[in-house]
Amino acid sequence: MKADYYETLGVGKGADEKELKSAFRKLAMQFHPDKNPGDANAEHKFKEIGEAYETLKDPQKRAAYDRFGHAAFENGGMGGGGFGGGGSGGFADIFEDIFGEMMGGGRQRRSGGRERGADLRYNMEITLEEAYAGKTAQIHVPTSITCDECSGSGAKPGTQPVTCGTCSGSGRVRAAQGFFSIERTCPTCHGRGQIIKDPCPKCSGQGRITEERSLSVNIPAGIEDGTRIRLTGEGEAGLRGGPSGDLYIFLSLKPHEFFQRDGADLYCKVPISMTTAALGGQFEVATLDGTQTRVKIPDGTQNAKQFRLKGKGMPVLRQPAMGDLYIQIAIETPQNLNKKQRELLEEFERVSSQDNSPQSTGFFSRMKDFFEGLSE
Ligand SMILES: [Zn+2]
Ligand SMILES: [Zn+2]
Repeated sequence: MKADYYETLGVGKGADEKELKSAFRKLAMQFHPDKNPGDANAEHKFKEIGEAYETLKDPQKRAAYDRFGHAAFENGGMGGGGFGGGGSGGFADIFEDIFGEMMGGGRQRRSGGRERGADLRYNMEITLEEAYAGKTAQIHVPTSITCDECSGSGAKPGTQPVTCGTCSGSGRVRAAQGFFSIERTCPTCHGRGQIIKDPCPKCSGQGRITEERSLSVNIPAGIEDGTRIRLTGEGEAGLRGGPSGDLYIFLSLKPHEFFQRDGADLYCKVPISMTTAALGGQFEVATLDGTQTRVKIPDGTQNAKQFRLKGKGMPVLRQPAMGDLYIQIAIETPQNLNKKQRELLEEFERVSSQDNSPQSTGFFSRMKDFFEGLSE
């Protein structure tokens, strides 16, 4: 059970931006891992605080959290985590926001200028048939990967990055200004603390190169439109040996000519002639399992009548269950009548009784009563 975000930050539900920020700042300072080395509890608490603040400082996320609680961020897709949670990028960003100057660039110093690679997004469109059967898709992603020549260090093989002389490796320089001393990012090494004297010829010192990679992605049967699949570590390579980002596959389903989908159920509108509806009949519908199913309709079938074909819908994701296929009848009124047809229908009209169309007969007589009641 996750703790309530407001309780985590020790603020009321109505807390404004300023209160949130100051509560976060205070707690984050208290539980910062640098101040509590080796304390797993403090580290956990620190992460919780970050996640709570990240959510509540964003008006949209906050509104979603107020309405749905933690569930608002848990159904985003498969593979867990995702954008909403306290995951990778977002948290680091707010951390930098608040602590960037305050902590004196400590993060950069510790990591020696390593940067996490960016997350990548790949849009994939699949057909309903593919969503039905599931598939393994091969995708080609142009992405930067760690340079194999220098193993991501950026330095020419056989050489090492050297400590920056300007900042002695701290990545920060101090300048006195009156009574104050101001710290800023080292202009020589741009905060990395190290300088590459002989850059790797393959990657020009970046530690990564661009390549097109081929990946196989497993699309499970029954997948929904709008699903996001995360491939951890398959995003852009980090800078100078930093960790790779993630690759997100955004799936969308192409509209189908015959079937509309609602969860695991499918709907298919079938137009039939007026005479078939009146006399009864049958037709075949193709289903996604590659078979045909015969649908019998009784005489006197009304428009919009639904027939259910059990188990002929979509597979339910990761479950051995199937949805249903609903056949929706749409009666087509005859058009472009020739003389003979018109005569036959007029003859039909003459010999018809109220029993043939009880609904319309009943409707107009009730309407008449209603009208007479009004004018009394
Ligand atoms: Zn290289
Ligand atoms: Zn420097």
